This record gives sequence, C-alpha cells and structure tokens, in this order.
Amino acid sequence: RELPLADKSLLVSQAYVAGQWIDAPEGKTFDVTDPFDGSCLARLPDLGPETVRHAIDVAHEVQRDWAGKTAKERSVVLRRWYDLIMANVDDLALILTSEQGKPLAEARGEIVSNAAYIEWFAEEAKRVNGDVIPGATPQQRILVLKQPVGVCAAITPWNFPNGMITRKAGPALAAGCTMILKPASQTPLSALALAVLAERAGVPKGAFSVVTGAAKPIGEEFCRNPKIAKITFTGSTGVGRWLMREAADGIKRLSLELGGNAPFIVFDDADLDAAVEGAMISKFRNAGQTCVCANRIYVQESVAEAFSAKMVAKVAEIRLGRGTEAGTQQGPLIDEKAVAKMEEHVADALAKGGTILAGGNRSSLGGNFFEPTVMTGITQAMKVAREETFAPLAPIISFKDEADVIAMANDSEFGLASYFYAKDMARVVRVAEALEAGMVGVNTGMLANEMAPFGGVKQSGLGREGSKYGIEGFLETKYVCLAGL
Ligand code: ADP
Repeated sequence: RELPLADKSLLVSQAYVAGQWIDAPEGKTFDVTDPFDGSCLARLPDLGPETVRHAIDVAHEVQRDWAGKTAKERSVVLRRWYDLIMANVDDLALILTSEQGKPLAEARGEIVSNAAYIEWFAEEAKRVNGDVIPGATPQQRILVLKQPVGVCAAITPWNFPNGMITRKAGPALAAGCTMILKPASQTPLSALALAVLAERAGVPKGAFSVVTGAAKPIGEEFCRNPKIAKITFTGSTGVGRWLMREAADGIKRLSLELGGNAPFIVFDDADLDAAVEGAMISKFRNAGQTCVCANRIYVQESVAEAFSAKMVAKVAEIRLGRGTEAGTQQGPLIDEKAVAKMEEHVADALAKGGTILAGGNRSSLGGNFFEPTVMTGITQAMKVAREETFAPLAPIISFKDEADVIAMANDSEFGLASYFYAKDMARVVRVAEALEAGMVGVNTGMLANEMAPFGGVKQSGLGREGSKYGIEGFLETKYVCLAGL
C-alpha cells in the first residue's frame, strides 16, 4: 500500500546491513501489515544467520574507528540524526501508525519524546569521564578509563517501534559502540526509516545495521557470536530469560527491559480527579500496550466507588478508530493474539467473581479492536492481577490500609513501574520507599523521559535507559595502575 509521505524514501522494503540496503539473499520474505485492516505495507527480507553474521563482522571492524573519533565528532553525528528525526516527524509518525495502529498524535509523541534520548546522549558523549585515584604507594597512580563495550545487539518490541530504538542506539553510539538492531517483525518499518536518517546524518557504514527476519535464528546468532559484547533487549520476560540463558556461555553484557505488572494505587487523601486522569493516561495510552501501563488499580475502600464511577465516565469518552483518523484515541490492538489475551483475562475475572462496569467485549468495529474496559470486584487470585494484560483493561481492586496495599502491590515477580496518588507527605515517602519497583510515579501517570533512569527490578529487568546512568551499560571500566613514578 502507498503511504502519503512527504519523503517517500523513508518507507523501505530492504534491510540495512553493513551500510548496504539489501534484499533477501535467499529470496525469503515476510509481510508487514497494518493492524487496522491487515493490508500489506511492505514485503521485507527474512534474513538468515549468515547475513546477520556479516553485519556483525563489519560492525566489529568499524567499531575501533568509531570509538577512535573524538566524543565531539560522535556527538555531532548524533545531533544531526536527532535533527533529521525531528524534521521528518510527520512521515515517521505515519509509518509508525500504519504498522502499529496507535493514534497519530501518540505516534508523534513517541517519536519526539524518544528522539530526545539521541539528543541527550549526543551531549552525554562528551561527559564520559574516568577517574584519577591516589595510588597504593607514592610511586603509583590509579587511572580509571571508561571504554565502549564493543559491538552491541539490540532487539526491540512492536509497542514502541521507534522509541525503543533511539533510547538504545543513542547511548550505544555515543559511547563508541556499534550496533546491530533486530526490530520486531510486526513493526520493522519505523526502524528502517530511522536507519535511512542515521545514514543521512553520517553514522558510518556498518556502525548501525538493521536486520529483519525471524526472531529465533537472529537471536541465537546474537547470543552465540563471540564478536557481540552486549545484548540490549526490550520485550517479554520469557524472551529475556531465554536470551540470558543463551548468552550465558559468552558471559555477554545484558540490558533487559522486560514485562511489568504495574500497581496504580489511589489513597483516600488523593486528589481523586487527578488520580482518575493519571490512571486513564497510564492505563489506556497505546491501548494498554505499554510495559509501564497500570495493570492493577488499587483504590482505598472509602473512595473506591467514587473513583470507579469517574473512571467509567471517562472511559465512555474514548473514541476508537483508525490511528490515522482525526480524533481517534484508541486504535486496534497489535494482533489477534493480543485480543485473545484480553478476552481471556476478562473471562477469568468474571468467572472468579468480577463485575464489568464498562466495555468487556470486542468492539463493533471488528478486527483487532477491543472496548476499553473497567472491572471491579477484582482479587489477587485473578489473572488480571498476576499477569501483564497488555490491553485496555482496568481492573479495580479495593484495599483497607497502607500495609494491605503494599503487600498486594509487591506480591509479584515483576517490578518495573508503580504509581500512587496521595497527599500526606509522610505517606508519600513511606510508600515510595516500600514499593518494589524500579520506578515510582507519585501523583503522576507518566514517568519516562530522557533525563531519568528507566528500568526495573526483580524479573522486570537489568540496567537503566536514559539519564547519566543510561550510558553506563555501554561502557566498561578499565583500571590502569601507573607504577614506577
Ligand atoms: P511480545 O510478546 O510483546 O511480542 P516478545 O518478547 O516476544 O514480546 O518480542 C519482543 C522482541 O523480541 C521482538 O523483536 C521479537 O521479535 C523478539 N524475539 C522474540 N523471540 C525471540 C527470540 N527467541 N530471540 C530473540 N528475539 C526474540
């Protein structure tokens, strides 16, 4: 299908390997479709491990040169990449919405807020400082160097097809690493468009490759190839676990942004309208398909009914439709599997005593659309409380007191984002410290930005993206003992 892009060269049907745009060497391809209607947007090469190996070989060759440039030189290239993304944001948003389904305004928001990671790390490139430490004897000095880890492999998901790339490639390239990226097969077109702009910005040939194709063989090559120093992954905990196991033999560095099961807690002293607004953004943005989504909404007993009523009123206003249509607030889910999971979670909650206050069914729009749904009478035993639903389902669980809700919130193997609304200062500090999560939003439903460390604890992952901490995963610390002085 043709997309009305201002710059048609941003929609490509080739992979970007070692600085070359290539078709499938063996002629194998796969289709990228629009989740709105299943129409085919592009046919892309399904690359085998040999081609991936070639990309890795070249990334390994050029890495020394890239690391050998001054930080300022790398910074200038990254800054140019950022500028080009911002200049092409409308086209990038249209490509993103077409392959992913989210409303155009959200696609733009994703691109702008995540391009900021490239801008940020272009600046941080110049601030990768080591240390000079007094030596153990007067004749010694201890020098601490920060050096790039080397060639990095990145694997990114379909829910943020653009943003999950820039927050990995930005710090990697800033640090002097090179990168091979495997985007999700549902949404590789955003990745390839970013590669077009990276090439234009002057990222050297081979320093950033985008390989498309089946996840498993490419993942295996990443895990087994000795030239890959580090794997950075955003996706499900199951795949993260698999990568960790596969990469164990090579003791590869890992950054993992995995699943979440975010609690969203509303205390009785909260500003209820603000809490509802925060819950709406946190829950229904991207049709509930974000890893930091509110998955379990805990509301203190005395305000639970009022909160639910306000939430139901807001949910009634959500307009479903095609992402490219003006006024659309919720697009289709990514695929049938996602719809089936939502259905399963609703049915499980109903069977165990839950009640539907709004939605609960597939939408009359058909396809992958599901009604935004609010349920009450939810307990910890239900799937909605235990697993990441990744869909527009808001399950409301009422609680008695602080101790009660903290125990429930922490009763999960996940620990990515958490949120709570409260005014009492002592409570704010107590609860923020007690929640087992990498991120806590206090009186807000939105957390991520390039200045803050994004990441999880427990089985939600390893490492942080964004902020001064975000580049550390791409650096090694080397100690040089200068003796005989
Ligand atoms: P989801 O279930 O949300 O699609 P996944 O974790 O399955 O999340 O997918 C996230 C990314 O991981 C995608 O790019 C997908 O292609 C990739 N992926 C899935 N399985 C593997 C695997 N065995 N090895 C490497 N990458 C994988």
